[in-house]
Amino acid sequence: MHRMKVLTRVNNLPIDTGVTGWNAILEEQAPAIILEESQQCDFLIIGAGFAGLSAARRLSQLKPGARIIVLEAKRIAEGPAGRNSGFMIDLPHDLSSNDYLTTQENDQKQITLNRQAIAFAQDAAKEYILPKEAFNICGKINGAAGEKATQHNFDYAKHLEALGEPYKMLDAQGMKKLTGSSFYQSGIYTPGTAMVQPAIYIRGVSSGLGNKVSIFSNSPVVALDKQNNQWIAKTHKGSVTAPKVILATNGHIESFGYFKRRFVHVILYASMSRALNQAEADLTGIENWGITPSDPAATTMRKISCSRGTRIITRNRISYAPDMKVSEVLLQQMERTHVKSFTKRYPDLSHVKQEYTWAGRLCLSRNGVSAFGEVEQGLYSACCQNGLGLARGTLSGMAIAELAVEGETELAKAFLAEDKPQKLPPAPLDTIGANAFMRWSEFKARKEL
Ligand SMILES: Cc1cc2nc3c(=O)[nH]c(=O)nc-3n(C[C@H](O)[C@H](O)[C@H](O)COP(=O)(O)OP(=O)(O)OC[C@H]3O[C@@H](n4cnc5c(N)ncnc54)[C@H](O)[C@@H]3O)c2cc1C
Repeated sequence: MHRMKVLTRVNNLPIDTGVTGWNAILEEQAPAIILEESQQCDFLIIGAGFAGLSAARRLSQLKPGARIIVLEAKRIAEGPAGRNSGFMIDLPHDLSSNDYLTTQENDQKQITLNRQAIAFAQDAAKEYILPKEAFNICGKINGAAGEKATQHNFDYAKHLEALGEPYKMLDAQGMKKLTGSSFYQSGIYTPGTAMVQPAIYIRGVSSGLGNKVSIFSNSPVVALDKQNNQWIAKTHKGSVTAPKVILATNGHIESFGYFKRRFVHVILYASMSRALNQAEADLTGIENWGITPSDPAATTMRKISCSRGTRIITRNRISYAPDMKVSEVLLQQMERTHVKSFTKRYPDLSHVKQEYTWAGRLCLSRNGVSAFGEVEQGLYSACCQNGLGLARGTLSGMAIAELAVEGETELAKAFLAEDKPQKLPPAPLDTIGANAFMRWSEFKARKEL
């Protein structure tokens, strides 16, 4: 018998450390549908995050009737797509800058594209009848505690004016009214961000796609081969053969052998408080709010009020992880920072425990570009979202589906026009450089943590 030559063995499979609160507070999912046989389809998508599910949805729009399969290594919404803070941001959000901004021309382009993604996600939320808490375009606030961070807000406001974007400045009193906390000295509200409950959204889109797309979870792809112009993705128990495959695995595309040493893999950390009682909730301002830090290295906070209780979500700290893994010990260390950050904002609630703490992978490139396009004939990449994964992930999923079906559409061209992700410096210089940059950024932002 002719033995198949496996081109790529995928040895580094995703590991998600800590339980994501977004998912844990929901009802349990139905048992995973695991791939257990050989299947054939027109399009295979690997990865069921924002990029993968958006690609699946766009493909089903462009090619109704096509057989589309999604293979996800973990349970739906347990990966980074269900671990983020849920800001689907329309405005520039360059994490490597001091204030999220780039050039005016580039920012304008990004805004138009991000809004395309938000509109696409909004349509999905409407079509799949997701609740408002899953997806709500209600805006967000850039919060600042210190003078320097407040200055970032003023600079940001000037830039928004030049872009013709609406905003509203809030002073310390305004921030206190909103959040119940005296921590913030200023804020800048912008209306266009969609606030997402990521686990409800991802689960909802996944089940909404269910009648047009076959989605298998707990089905990691462990090898990828090509024979007679067909790609063959193998899982532990089955395989899928398809002429076109989309890799929507974010940083894990490196585990498939592509874009090696071109990504800065980092881990972000978040905690969700236990449900607050009414008296406690009354100390935390209005029912729902979302604050990104005006200094990108500081703390993101959210308050959610829903049938599962009123809770505060705190996100800060970052670590470099070239192997995309994180230890439990480091996670516990980060939890201590979350407790401190929460207590700094709510000293009267210092007794409130963080019920869930989790880590999540994030993929950046040094030059802030995506890993997008046809990497081999019939094999496509929609990876590396540079920290803006809700909007950029959605967008790159839409764009890659268009590229795979229609070729270079306007949207696909926007990605194809980008440079390729820059190479990292050789080890250990990459680690030394990344750690120094991150620790220095956090040190500068220490008042805001
Ligand atoms: C704590 C935290 C907070 C964040 N906050 C925000 C925020 O507020 N706003 C924002 O825009 N972004 C945020 N992000 C970033 C955002 O979560 C990511 O950018 C986004 O999830 C990327 O989407 P994606 O679909 O490209 O990749 P992912 O969500 O990483 O999805 C890729 C999927 O591929 C799967 N996969 C990998 N390898 C295999 C394999 N071999 N076989 C099958 N499946 C595989 C993974 O399990 C994963 O589910 C945050 C991230 C973290 C960790």
